[in-house]
Amino acid sequence: MKITELLSKIQGEFKISPFRILKILSKIEDKDISFFLKDSEVEISHQTFDFLLKHLKEGYPIEYITKKVLFLGNEFFVDENVLIPRIETEDLVILAVNLIKNKNIKHVIDIGTGSGAIAISIKKQLPKIKVQASDISEAAIKVAQYNAQRLGVNVEFKIGDCLDPFLKDIEEVELIISNPPYVETSFIEQNRFLKYEPRISLDGGYDGQSFFKKISKYSHLLKSKYLLFETSEFTVKKTAEILSTIGKVQILPDSFKKERFIFISPYY
Ligand code: GLN
Repeated sequence: MKITELLSKIQGEFKISPFRILKILSKIEDKDISFFLKDSEVEISHQTFDFLLKHLKEGYPIEYITKKVLFLGNEFFVDENVLIPRIETEDLVILAVNLIKNKNIKHVIDIGTGSGAIAISIKKQLPKIKVQASDISEAAIKVAQYNAQRLGVNVEFKIGDCLDPFLKDIEEVELIISNPPYVETSFIEQNRFLKYEPRISLDGGYDGQSFFKKISKYSHLLKSKYLLFETSEFTVKKTAEILSTIGKVQILPDSFKKERFIFISPYY
């Protein structure tokens, strides 16, 4: 199909500017937008056309089409087994790296690592520290291992829920970081953009707090540690309350000035 034909078809069906269509096409085909502008005869494959439709009609994420996402300057492989790392989570990593440097932290764990974006980015910036990461999904761990290998970092990955894979050596751990599932169940069900990502990576239960409630049960083991979590601006106060049994809680904003991160430090 010629690009001109594609543009008129898509514009007939969706209210969307040609520029936006070309932008999406350039991502799907991994080409510069000028490639599509220079020649009105450019042929677009049926596969690309179908992907474009799936994206526009159903909100299918482009990252699952291209199988990649850029996170803090590194390219991560993603597929439907893992959450697509978001720009806010880059802020979480920046906060973590500063904290690790300031407090001279040597051992970090990332719970629910998904694609491995958090753990791998930390290890890439601070190669001397020990970084371990876990996920309940074996398929996600495979993706994370692949990313670590591609990006040339040594992170130890474990399969298991919440703190379980680390309980045996928990005394050694100094910082626990996580972007856990924190979206309220009812919100996921209404949001077409979330329906292709693994439910377990998003669903925080009816109030978005199930992970935080679970980890707070281990508060007796965590009192001397730092914890840094991502959550939602809508539920951050509730999360802060739940985690206050562990230590001193601070709420920190993301780059968009949304109250998104929870930082817990020892009381003493
Ligand atoms: N930031 C994601 C979203 O709101 C949620 C990620 C998560 O639950 N950890 O789409």
